[in-house]
Amino acid sequence: MDFGLKGKTAVVCGASAGIGRAVAEALAAEGCNLYLVARREEILAEVTGDLRRRFGVRASFGAADLSRNEDCSAVLKDVAEGLGGADILVTNAGGPPAGDAVASSTEDRLTLGWELVFLSAVRMVRGLLPAMRERKWGRIVAVTSVSLLEPIPGLALSNTYRPALWGFLKSLSSEVAADGVTINAVCPGYTLTGRQEELARVTAERGGTTPEAVTAAWAATIPAARLGRPEEIAAAAAFLCSAPASYITGTALAVDGGRTRFLLA
Ligand code: NAD
Repeated sequence: MDFGLKGKTAVVCGASAGIGRAVAEALAAEGCNLYLVARREEILAEVTGDLRRRFGVRASFGAADLSRNEDCSAVLKDVAEGLGGADILVTNAGGPPAGDAVASSTEDRLTLGWELVFLSAVRMVRGLLPAMRERKWGRIVAVTSVSLLEPIPGLALSNTYRPALWGFLKSLSSEVAADGVTINAVCPGYTLTGRQEELARVTAERGGTTPEAVTAAWAATIPAARLGRPEEIAAAAAFLCSAPASYITGTALAVDGGRTRFLLA
């Protein structure tokens, strides 16, 4: 299938590692030009150089902490001035700190979760959506979590702010669909990245066990009997960004090896 993405421009957030990096690579493989965002400039320079060399696409980057409004504004200004906007936005950032609801109910933690998960994505959408609507073509894909579909024990902030974000994006999707802009979410289950290693470590500490034992216990809950690979999440995201996915909007797609068992998920 031709994804119809050759020459399109995509802003990919959280693109220096893990799922975001895999999404950037999947889009580059389809001929998309890229603007990558994450916090660490050195790694972004390395990743953009790698994508340019391997796929012959144009790639640039902006280092930003997306939980900060001023950083989001600087990135949006750079994209507007340097690229004249974007056709595709993939929102993504690090997950919020693990913790149950009692531990997560401090002002500091609640604010951090809100800014990192909700505001970071909405600010980027707000900045890039107008040009997509004008061009009558746009794709927005939010990288979220299966916590959007079912709360995960010990991840209260994720369980709270991902549904909040999706509530907003789902509302927005019906407002802009007639302008050719689709808005969808991918909901990864356990995926082999730095974030997953960190969660396994924290969970192991809490339970007095090892990260390997925690990971094996997670795999045992998944029908596919293994954790996902970043490129498997990226493939779903790239499809949702594609031209042939033009009639899919307002959908949250679980990419979790069958872990989520709801009939309508
Ligand atoms: P990761 O830690 O491997 O990569 C996160 C990326 O986001 C990195 O590029 C990092 O630099 C960037 N980032 C983090 N905080 C940022 C910030 N404040 N501003 C800008 N960039 C920032 O994580 P991942 O596993 O690829 O996860 C991506 C998203 O998917 C996260 O929201 C995570 O919670 C979610 N998720 C992951 C899993 C999993 O098992 N890995 C499962 C479900 C959901």
